[in-house]
Amino acid sequence: MLLVLGLVISMVVYLSPGLDLGNLRRAVYSDSSAGIVGSGGEGYTFMQVTEDGSPITWGCQARIEVEVNPDGAPEGYADLVASAVGRVNDVSGFTFVVTGETDDREFTGRQRGPVLIGWADEEEVRELTGPTAGLGGASYVIGPGGGARSVGGMVVLDTDMPTGWLGGLDEETVLVHELVHVLGLGHSDDPGALMAAENSGQDEFTAADLDGLDALQEAACG
Ligand SMILES: [Zn+2]
Repeated sequence: MLLVLGLVISMVVYLSPGLDLGNLRRAVYSDSSAGIVGSGGEGYTFMQVTEDGSPITWGCQARIEVEVNPDGAPEGYADLVASAVGRVNDVSGFTFVVTGETDDREFTGRQRGPVLIGWADEEEVRELTGPTAGLGGASYVIGPGGGARSVGGMVVLDTDMPTGWLGGLDEETVLVHELVHVLGLGHSDDPGALMAAENSGQDEFTAADLDGLDALQEAACG
């Protein structure tokens, strides 16, 4: 049984469209080991850092608007989103606010605007191929002084996620993990962390996950 459970893993990667206002060139990053090795602290990494090594995240105590595209969503998705958002809000210095629903399905080219939460299959979003259960990331602007701030983002969850079977992947946990990517944390090298690249059943934040969120808040608020 343990072996079977061990195979029902999610390798959660991220896809982060970065928008540089300087030249309006858009870059798309896709990385199976989201997070910059060596950034962050013990047990956590940052998704992106500026030239001086600061994590790229949202403004101090930002209220981050979220829109949900219900197409392909599981039954009870509104409660799922509300619960996941609440869990992230409780432990971060930022506040996701679900403002409504949308038919927007532009997951990979997002710029400034609400964070999109949606569901898709691997035909629509190629990066969901294989064991990847979800993607999450932020777009950001880089100022003339080299500082950066997140201004948009997305989370897309796989409609084929293995759930429910032998306690397979918990969709709320995947959503929480992806929302933390949106805030700016990358993967942890601690396999027990919620921000570990693979989920083998863990569904709670560890001390290191929380340290990482604190570091983001500190970077945002100075
Ligand atoms: Zn991830």
